[in-house]
Amino acid sequence: MAVSDPASRATALAIVLSASVTSAFAQTVVKPPKNKYTPQQDVAIGREAAAEVRKQYPVINDEQIARYLTRLGDRLVAAAPPELKQSVYEYSFTPVDLKEINAFALPGGPMFVHRGMFDAAAGEAEVAGVMAHELSHVLLRHGTANATKAENPWLQFGQMAGMIGGAVLGGPAGTALAEGSQFGLGTLMLRYSRDFEKQADIMGAQIMARAGYDPRALAHIFETIERQVQGSGSSEPQWLSDHPNPGNRTQYITKEASLLTIANPADVSEFEPIKTVFASMAPAKSMGDLAKARNPSGGPSGLTAGDAGGSSGGTLGQPIPLPSSQYRTIKGGTVFEAAIPSNWKTLPSKNAIRVVPENGSGDVNGQTVFTHGIEFGVAPPGSRDLQQATNAFLNAVAQGNPGLQLAGSQRTVQLSQRVAIGTPLVNPSPLGGQELIALYTTFLADGSLFYYLTVAPERDVAAFQETFRHIGTSIRLTDVR
Ligand SMILES: [Zn+2]
Repeated sequence: MAVSDPASRATALAIVLSASVTSAFAQTVVKPPKNKYTPQQDVAIGREAAAEVRKQYPVINDEQIARYLTRLGDRLVAAAPPELKQSVYEYSFTPVDLKEINAFALPGGPMFVHRGMFDAAAGEAEVAGVMAHELSHVLLRHGTANATKAENPWLQFGQMAGMIGGAVLGGPAGTALAEGSQFGLGTLMLRYSRDFEKQADIMGAQIMARAGYDPRALAHIFETIERQVQGSGSSEPQWLSDHPNPGNRTQYITKEASLLTIANPADVSEFEPIKTVFASMAPAKSMGDLAKARNPSGGPSGLTAGDAGGSSGGTLGQPIPLPSSQYRTIKGGTVFEAAIPSNWKTLPSKNAIRVVPENGSGDVNGQTVFTHGIEFGVAPPGSRDLQQATNAFLNAVAQGNPGLQLAGSQRTVQLSQRVAIGTPLVNPSPLGGQELIALYTTFLADGSLFYYLTVAPERDVAAFQETFRHIGTSIRLTDVR
């Protein structure tokens, strides 16, 4: 009879099954951590932050380098686990002309690779390794997973992108730029825990193998980075402070590599020519150069309360339209709601949300200041006593605004049915003359300090007073759980 023997068919099936079971368990399974954000939110955050990075960083425009990096990135994306590739992601791979060994990826896909990474790498596989590691942070959505974990009101402000603009300027430049802003919370999203690091290492190794690179190159570039630190006696590079060594990095990457089959070797013949192109360029800038270029002579005048980040709202010194008598409601995450004139816009920045009329905000010496409008924010409490917490906050603001002065006595007021303190202030306006500021502070349920402040040049105060009063009485604190 020609019918095949059922026993032998069963055996064949068993072999197929066991083969697939083996391959499913051969490599370590990496599961994305808990995340309360949507992939669309990752993309929105990353897109806005990437625009900020492109504005602040010396992007390399050389076509050959850009094309090369994109091809390398695309190869890694093609080798990424399909179940983690969200269709909304917007991958991009941008070379920047900075000499520090660094690379970073923003939520939703934008990746930036420093020129210094190419100088440090012994071959294409090492650059690919760092990129595969960064890509894994994107795929596992570690940035917004950090925000999920943080349970911090800062991170609940509707828009988080502005924060990252500050965060990517970490390291020496970040320190210089952050002077006068004591919070530095923007770094939360891109600073990974050791658990997340290990996940990105393991998944990075798996992606490398599928893309045709030996994953052990990843362990090697990490060793190079750590050795350079020890050798130079300089401070820890940004890459290591954002991506801490979980311990035994080389061992577990090597072990994972032994479980993986490397696909057809990638064609790496373009790596040396690309290094030649880099070598023909002017020397790369350092983060320190970048900070100096941005802020040559200390801070500008004009109010810079929460931080130096955020985006500009127009051109300073241009006519300011009168506030509309129509209002719309804005939400500051889970913290507050307020009604603002319908012709004003919101400028979220690292630590705060500014609401300004057209031309009410602009750049002075590379720093965003605002001359008309309101800023809402949350600050860590300096004390459990409202008066002391308010004074600590004022001292911090004064550090970035040397001309800031009290313009009268503080008084107790109501803010969303809570006890608050109102503080009148004056400050030199970037438009000339003085600007009048009213600061209001109260505690949130979690003990942090909520504040809002109104700003207008002395000559415009009369035209804005009623609007500020309307906004102030509309504020509703929504933080009680
Ligand atoms: Zn990492």
